[in-house]
Amino acid sequence: MVADILIELGIEKLNKTFTYKIPTEYLDKIQIGMRVLVSFGKQKLEGFILNIKEYDQKSYSYELKEIIDLVDEFPVLNKELLELGKYISDKTLCTLISAYQVMLPTALKARKKTKINIKEKSYVVLNQTEDEVNLYIQNNKRSEKQNNLLLQLLKDKKIEKNKFDNNVVKSLETKGLIKTIKEEVYRLHNNILEDTRKIVLTEKQQEISNKVITNLNQNITYLLYGVTGSGKTEVYISIIKKVLKEGKEAIMLVPEISLTPQMVNRFTNVFGSNIAVLHSGLSLGEKYDEYRKILNGDVKIVIGARSAIFAPFKNIGIIIIDEEHTESYKQDNHPRYHAIDIAKKRAQTHNCPLILGSATPSLESFARAKKGVYQLLELKTRVGSSVLPDVNIIDMKEEIKNGNSTFSKILLDKIRNRLERNEQIILLLNRRGYSTFITCKNCGYTHKCPNCDISLTYHKTSNMMRCHYCGYADKKLVICPECGSSEIKDLGTGTQKIEEELNHLFSDAKIIRMDVDTTTKKGSHEKIINDFKKEKYNILLGTQMIAKGLDFPKVTLVGVINADTSLNIPDFRSGERTFQLLSQVAGRAGRNKLKGEVVIQTFNPEHYSIYLAKHHDYESFYIKEMNLRHAMKYPPYYFITLVRILSKDYQKGMEASKKIKSYLSNILNKNSIVLGPTTSIMYKINNVYRFQCIIKYKKDEKLRSALLKIINHYITNKDVSVEIDNEPNKL
Ligand code: ADP
Ligand code: ZN
Ligand code: ZN
Repeated sequence: MVADILIELGIEKLNKTFTYKIPTEYLDKIQIGMRVLVSFGKQKLEGFILNIKEYDQKSYSYELKEIIDLVDEFPVLNKELLELGKYISDKTLCTLISAYQVMLPTALKARKKTKINIKEKSYVVLNQTEDEVNLYIQNNKRSEKQNNLLLQLLKDKKIEKNKFDNNVVKSLETKGLIKTIKEEVYRLHNNILEDTRKIVLTEKQQEISNKVITNLNQNITYLLYGVTGSGKTEVYISIIKKVLKEGKEAIMLVPEISLTPQMVNRFTNVFGSNIAVLHSGLSLGEKYDEYRKILNGDVKIVIGARSAIFAPFKNIGIIIIDEEHTESYKQDNHPRYHAIDIAKKRAQTHNCPLILGSATPSLESFARAKKGVYQLLELKTRVGSSVLPDVNIIDMKEEIKNGNSTFSKILLDKIRNRLERNEQIILLLNRRGYSTFITCKNCGYTHKCPNCDISLTYHKTSNMMRCHYCGYADKKLVICPECGSSEIKDLGTGTQKIEEELNHLFSDAKIIRMDVDTTTKKGSHEKIINDFKKEKYNILLGTQMIAKGLDFPKVTLVGVINADTSLNIPDFRSGERTFQLLSQVAGRAGRNKLKGEVVIQTFNPEHYSIYLAKHHDYESFYIKEMNLRHAMKYPPYYFITLVRILSKDYQKGMEASKKIKSYLSNILNKNSIVLGPTTSIMYKINNVYRFQCIIKYKKDEKLRSALLKIINHYITNKDVSVEIDNEPNKL
């Protein structure tokens, strides 16, 4: 017998496998989907078995090599995942091997680099019948210690070995009365805050839950469009309860790691330890363990970020994607899969429902719901007596005239007022660091990253200038390198600077900052969120990572320091992103009995994304934005594919881009549009120049093969590389 093996190589044709002979001693163990070790050229590499077949010597002109070793006892890729990989490869034009690798935790990828162990604990158990042991105890009155151990084992059956004196254990072992066994222990321990509330669904929540529950055996995609605080999570929980009763499993995706502890908390309070958690904040060992909880059938629910969509459950009864509009559900490097796509595919395979939930659905999803492709479920009001907060929009142009810069007078007054009333405040600024850039007042020189086309951000704690793209760091300038002036000024504000100003303005207030810089340590998200929930702090200040999903009953004021940061990004989705961000962060205010209020500071108060967010008016926003998209031929009216061309050599990159553009223009349908080539918004990152062509199309059966041609053409090119991004998050 021989096996077709898929190996990860530097340069690879899309889905090529290599055939190896199976040594006879492996014949009864080997299965499709296992990893094996093979020699390839001079290297030893791991690969996945994709096929096992009879050895037909005539079809090979050369001697086949033998498989060196089996890596696994069981297949790491089951039938469904093997098929899913093909789907991903087909959909994102990635290699099959990279599709398989992305689905697995590091410990199970076909790569020889990292060795991750299973953690085990030793226990002692009885090795003879209870009668025999009782007899022994009766005849052995002298050794109290031994008898105690045995009596305890008679009661508890299994006890951790290190609870007893080693000599006692040894002597009982030698007598054959007990034995040591090893059992796996999972590494991750969640710190759970107990929640004793008994939730009874509201009539509306119950109605939605019932609707889904009565069709659990149908592959329907629902869009649960429910305002912030409308109790979507409780609806999910009630549906999952039913799914578990039917003996099936649930996948629940949440957007960011900041959100996971809270969701895990809520779920653990309902479902106990029946949950695996998967997100990027875990160590490789923890991830491996959580993954194996699923493989071993120890849990029925997984909660996690994007990659949890690949959870190897065998009998999925529901998939839920909360905050479905979130960008990070699409992986932004190769392979560029979207979790919603994968969810649809898996829901189809398992013939189960998929729920997409959001207070601000993506335009694409809402359009599909309107067309009836998704079934629309709505929660229009908040739970109980809680209402959506009042939103004040502050025109910062006016404030600056009055001498206020970072904070408007109104925001400061309201912060002071909440502090006096002992209520909590959330402040959002979508920029980390101290100041955004440093400019010479005399000649206008700005300090930029030498590798990337972007100004460096000043970080005060380290007194360094940093590039947020490549990590380059440099000392802060004191003298302008262009004109020698010492009038260097920092412009723009980051979270660090705001924190400093707040400490100065409100010296009695306790302030906690949450952004990439304060959450590098493991568990720090969780700690900040739990501490804020326990009211150890008055003000939570942070970047967009604090905007979504969090539920703090004592927060009655949300302030947005600068709503324009996301609006000023030159992308057709910047309006949608701004509306979503403002609605989400506003949704953190007044979620319980206390009424909430929001202050949004902006230089563009007349922009529709901002004033419609004030009125919580998603539907008007949807109509307005759809009209614009229609006029501009953008999604959801057109599909977009981005072809990115990368090169260290500007000329070569530009030439290749032009060739690609003309090739595409010639070959594609007449009503498809090819734009570019242009330099990307970030035209240089890490000394690599970036160019792009954008394809807009409705239906183009020639597109796929044209893109494959381009990929295969440049795959061996040393100077130019090409990336394809279907339905890109950003242009
Ligand atoms: P969403 O996810 O829609 O923003 P949540 O599910 O977080 O809303 O619910 C908001 C708050 O209301 C939470 O504290 C939640 O526990 C509470 N809640 C939800 N449903 C109910 C209910 N039926 N009875 C009491 N409290 C509820
Ligand atoms: Zn200067
Ligand atoms: Zn850089």
